[in-house]
Amino acid sequence: MNIHEYQAKAVLKEFGVPVSAGKAVFSVEEAEAAAKELGGPLWVVKAQIHAGGRGKGKFKEPEAGDKGGVRLARSVEEVKTFVGQMLGKTLVTVQTGPAGKQVNRIYIEDGSDIEREFYLSALVDRATSRVAFVVSTEGGMDIEEVAHKSPEKILTFAVDPATGVMPHHGRTVAKALGLTGDLAKQAESLVTKLYAAFVAKDMAMLEINPLIVTKDGQLRCLDAKVSFDSNALYRHPDIVALRDVTEEDEKEIEASKHDLAYIALDGTIGCMVNGAGLAMATMDIIKLYGAEPANFLDVGGGASREKVTAAFKIITADPNVKGILVNIFGGIMKCDVIAEGVIAAVKEVGLKVPLVVRLEGTNVELGKKILNESGLNVISADDLDDAAQKIVKAVKGA
Ligand code: GDP
Ligand code: MG
Repeated sequence: MNIHEYQAKAVLKEFGVPVSAGKAVFSVEEAEAAAKELGGPLWVVKAQIHAGGRGKGKFKEPEAGDKGGVRLARSVEEVKTFVGQMLGKTLVTVQTGPAGKQVNRIYIEDGSDIEREFYLSALVDRATSRVAFVVSTEGGMDIEEVAHKSPEKILTFAVDPATGVMPHHGRTVAKALGLTGDLAKQAESLVTKLYAAFVAKDMAMLEINPLIVTKDGQLRCLDAKVSFDSNALYRHPDIVALRDVTEEDEKEIEASKHDLAYIALDGTIGCMVNGAGLAMATMDIIKLYGAEPANFLDVGGGASREKVTAAFKIITADPNVKGILVNIFGGIMKCDVIAEGVIAAVKEVGLKVPLVVRLEGTNVELGKKILNESGLNVISADDLDDAAQKIVKAVKGA
């Protein structure tokens, strides 16, 4: 689960992490009050969307101006102008995709005087099974580009969960960033606090870009991007409360209500599969035959007819879907349950695209019989390869 920058900063602040003072606003009136309260003389007006690259982003609407989603204001009037220009407009950044994201909240922050900008992030590293830190002197830039062009400027280290952050980690970070004296001490303290926050809140990723040194010698997190491990959210009601569903895919929200593992993708072939491995293999083979999957969907082991119906409805509701591939290997899942779920869904919402079904395993004969007798226009397939070829052909032919 992702949260907004201002929320991430509030979470980090609980752990003593240095961030600027700021206030999230939803209107120009609120922005004026917030700007006056913060006092100036410099304010940062920051569009809040679940995507990075806002500073270099572009608004779709010309009246929103051409200065991106992060702007420095030097008067209350300027703050009001920028907020008025950005609210309700669509910001496109390298991370939003071409559709962009509508700006509904804006963070007004106390402006900092920047001396130096760094990059610092923490994430769960699969290779070491530990929380790893990534540090670089190249702050405020696209870290992927730094990794590509000058990988020697990136330092990575993992923290042993048994010891947590040790003084030597702090020294490593300070050295990598060229910090000495009091700033080195601040770096050590910062890494300790960030690690504490990361572990306590079950974060999946924490990215500070830029981490800055202010002109008066303070280390401060100027941007914060945090995502959480969804499987651990049950023990963090305070984090769940920060969820902004307007930032999420409607189909994914609907799927989560039915406890379905569903991820929306950009392709044209809707997939309904049981088992994550089979779902991935299905996506791969669709690509192999020259088409793109519209989603990842694992209906799970013992899914009920209702769950299958819900899943099928989510797939058909996607206007990009030009064909559907149902690929079920019935182990715990029974093929007849799948067949009944599909039929129930089609009765409710209709079926306007080709449907290829490949069933195998428990109750396969019964499942096929139910589908055959339903009068539905189903193209049946014998195996995964056959199924993929048939659906790609049906979609491309259409
Ligand atoms: P992003 O573009 O979505 O990553 O948003 P950031 O929060 O990183 O802001 C983009 C850039 O705006 C930063 O890299 C800074 O250069 C600049 N910026 C943000 N806050 C301040 C500030 O308080 N003072 C100054 N001078 N620049 C800022
Ligand atoms: Mg940033």
